Amino acid sequence: MSGPTKATLSKDKKTLNQCLKNDFKIMVQEALDAMGRVLDQREKDLKDWTPDKQDEFHKIFGSRGEREIPVDLPLRGVSDIHNMTAREIMLDGIRRLRDIKGQLTVNDFINEIDGPKAFCARVSSGQQSNYKVHIGINFTGRLKNHGFRSCMSVMGEDSRVSTLCHEMSHFVKKFAEPSQGGMGTSDYDENCHKKKHEDGEDKSSFEQHKDGANKMVKKEDPNVFDNAYNIERYFQISA
Ligand SMILES: [Zn+2]
Repeated sequence: MSGPTKATLSKDKKTLNQCLKNDFKIMVQEALDAMGRVLDQREKDLKDWTPDKQDEFHKIFGSRGEREIPVDLPLRGVSDIHNMTAREIMLDGIRRLRDIKGQLTVNDFINEIDGPKAFCARVSSGQQSNYKVHIGINFTGRLKNHGFRSCMSVMGEDSRVSTLCHEMSHFVKKFAEPSQGGMGTSDYDENCHKKKHEDGEDKSSFEQHKDGANKMVKKEDPNVFDNAYNIERYFQISA
């Protein structure tokens, strides 16, 4: 009879089968559909704005929804600062993410699962149309200590949906129409410093970025709404 060790192993094998690489389009479509449901749920939470949703928002961002935050809506490269409440920023962000998601089909996701670099997902943030998202091996699942690549959750913490929300938040606001496009977020490092989002090598690890996001919440840093690692946390729910 199988003991606990054997049972764990067979479970891992099953998980691996669910992450077969030839299911790429199914995997992406499933994640896109789930992202739509998560965006709908968060929009509802922000509109209903019940006391428990207000507290949850505060816990995730370190800011209350009514806090005024300066937001840049640069028109043709010229900075134009507007004050928005934290709640308005996220409602606006959901509108932007939904708009971009609506322009994407599974064919806009570039399969780099077998590529030379192990990554989760990445985008060139300067895109303003014909959006493309690159998908790497970690999107199927991260390598765990036991040497198996366990299947990444579709929704929840460090999931495919929260990853897609992170990446799509990086797309810039449109040059001639800043009310359109992505949120134009950056990646902040473990010292809470903004890093230019480029295709190039990111020197901070995933854990360091998470650490930085935690620190920013704790010190009530208004830049949480400019950090993709904080933005993605609002979308770590099941819906
Ligand atoms: Zn990023």
